[in-house]
Amino acid sequence: MVTIFGYAKINLTLDILGVRDDGYHEIATVMQSLALRDELTLRQRAEGISLRVDVPGLETDARNLAYRAAALLIEECGIRGGVHIDIVKRVPVAAGLAGGSADAAAALRGMNELYGLGLTDEELRGFGARIGSDIPFSLTGGTVFATGRGEIMERLSDFPETAVLLAKPPVAVSTPWAYRSYDAHPPEKHPDNAAFLQALAHGDVHACARLAVNVLQPVTEAAHPVIADYRARMRTGGAACAMMSGSGPTVFGLFADAAAAAHTAEAFRRETDAEVHLTRTAKMTMIKRT
Ligand code: ATP
Repeated sequence: MVTIFGYAKINLTLDILGVRDDGYHEIATVMQSLALRDELTLRQRAEGISLRVDVPGLETDARNLAYRAAALLIEECGIRGGVHIDIVKRVPVAAGLAGGSADAAAALRGMNELYGLGLTDEELRGFGARIGSDIPFSLTGGTVFATGRGEIMERLSDFPETAVLLAKPPVAVSTPWAYRSYDAHPPEKHPDNAAFLQALAHGDVHACARLAVNVLQPVTEAAHPVIADYRARMRTGGAACAMMSGSGPTVFGLFADAAAAAHTAEAFRRETDAEVHLTRTAKMTMIKRT
């Protein structure tokens, strides 16, 4: 039996540079792991894959990314045996926090241990990239500058440990829809990733907060004004930065003052329908140790 964690991520910057010949968007993004995580327990079974998750309605068959990750390794590594996967889900689903990718990354790591496959991190990332663009990052963790489809990664110095408040409004956002809408109406404001990387190298959280820009935010916010409302609430609560993650709809706030983050979390729970989590930035070593 192996227990392994899958960590949520936020995008501190997200830029779209164009559409590639293969139809995917070329992106440039600073991604950051959070301490908020799902817990996966893997047990050997004679054959086949079974999966249980504590969230009603979430797929437990081959549509689940953790299932697909396990199936890929069974097939590609010639494993003679199966696996049962139990997922305790903490990362909000379909939120822009890459929870599914986190579970796939954890399943890859878990299968590697459970069956003593001896795959390197690089090999695991290669398998992960075949399932989803965010999975190589989920296997790496910490603070990363990612380009291409998100699979070309440069490790950065860890973002200083900071309180992060997450608020997911009760609206559904389709990632393909957000990218399509972006193509029709590209916004004018792009992140200055070079400046962000420099601020990060100096450990300057406030400069990073000023430079945090997500080009998909105006797209999703136009369809769901609740996102602008949540960002305003975060700023009123003292957030140095309040922004949407990925294609949304989750809004995150970075708080220099953890007590202010806790007060703001209470206000969200009292006054809104948001799914609220108070967490913090996580370092790469934390993900590695699992
Ligand atoms: P992305 O931005 O990569 O599209 P997300 O971070 O917004 O994804 P996820 O929580 O990864 O959101 O889920 C997106 C969809 O993936 C869900 O609606 C669900 O149908 C499917 N899915 C498959 N496996 C999982 C999993 N293990 N956990 C959560 N969702 C999963």
